[in-house]
Amino acid sequence: MAKTALPPTPFPMDASCPSVFVASGDSPYDNTRNALEKIDLAPATGKSVLLKPNAGRNVEPEKGVTTHPQVVAAAIDAFTKAGARVAVGESPIIGVDTLEAFAHCGIAAVAQERNCPLIDMDARRCVKMQIPDGIAIRTLKVCREILEFDIIVSMPVMKMHMHTGVTLAVKNMKGGLWRRSKVDLHMLPPLPGNDAKTLDIAIADMASVLRPHLAIIDGTIGMEGLGPSAGAPKRMDVVLAGIDAFAADAVACELMGVSARDIPHLQIGAGRGYGVIDPRKIRVAPDNWKDARSPFELPPENLSIEFPGVTVLDKQSCSACQSTLLLFLRRYGDDLFGESPEKAQIRVAIGKGHKSLPPHTLCIGNCTAEFKDGRPYIAGCPPVASEILKAYTEYFK
Ligand code: SF4
Repeated sequence: MAKTALPPTPFPMDASCPSVFVASGDSPYDNTRNALEKIDLAPATGKSVLLKPNAGRNVEPEKGVTTHPQVVAAAIDAFTKAGARVAVGESPIIGVDTLEAFAHCGIAAVAQERNCPLIDMDARRCVKMQIPDGIAIRTLKVCREILEFDIIVSMPVMKMHMHTGVTLAVKNMKGGLWRRSKVDLHMLPPLPGNDAKTLDIAIADMASVLRPHLAIIDGTIGMEGLGPSAGAPKRMDVVLAGIDAFAADAVACELMGVSARDIPHLQIGAGRGYGVIDPRKIRVAPDNWKDARSPFELPPENLSIEFPGVTVLDKQSCSACQSTLLLFLRRYGDDLFGESPEKAQIRVAIGKGHKSLPPHTLCIGNCTAEFKDGRPYIAGCPPVASEILKAYTEYFK
């Protein structure tokens, strides 16, 4: 019978007052080993360990989008030394090939040097997992490996996120959801009588069954502003490790200048008892850990701040369409909208939640298909930036 949740962490922890270890310095490899050294990895001896970094996009390591390869290298070495069988797995965003992404972000090279298997977690059929305590979702399609390995280690990058405030160890487990089912969490309707965004509730629901056994948060180069993929890289030279993923996320938030209590999915999950985010109940070492604090620029409420001539109507989109739109705006925006003010007002819609759209709105992605009659429309899930340019110029020329 399929598991209904990951088993509890095998690593010893005081659940009422978890510990988080912070290590700073020039070497991401040393930072990771130093942070992990404080945790007794002996329970991993003889076990299978799946490292789940953020390797979901085809970008180079210095962009702050994917987990730094030296952080992954250090985690492979630490668990191998502890006597574990280690593999690295990912299920990337839609439209990205897993093994290509591993190669781009430098993780393939460090894994291959160590004979550590790389797993495309989308390659096999999924497992349907029940979420008995789910409020927004009652089932999830989960990659098989998440349920087959003895120990799951979430290894996110320290990033701001346009839709969820931050994306850290708790949310990084979304990369354990199978293929396109990741997108489903962005498409949920509002819950009657519940003010929280359904996406945030769904991430907390996911955390009820998919909490990692250990979190290693890579703050070597994080991302501020328009995360998770279009913000600015921010060098922090810090790595955190902790057994309670909520506590590790809360400490990362503090370093980023954000309170975890203002991050809805963390606040909801901690409120349900999935982990600790109250800073008074988390032991952080070393004592001077706050020296590494450097506030991140917050994500803008609306992309129109960065592109003044463009009004983005975004309802329940996912990060694949956001990335495509940003790529389009950054690549062609100045030429198309930058110079002549009369051209400079355009509405763009992404996401599935629209009830109506004004005429002439540029409808991007399959989610906006129902509005395509009489409006410029670009099919695709996600579409590509060059097709948006083509549709725009054909319609508005
Ligand atoms: S069309 Fe865009 S927003 Fe809709 S599911 Fe595809 S990528 Fe996500």
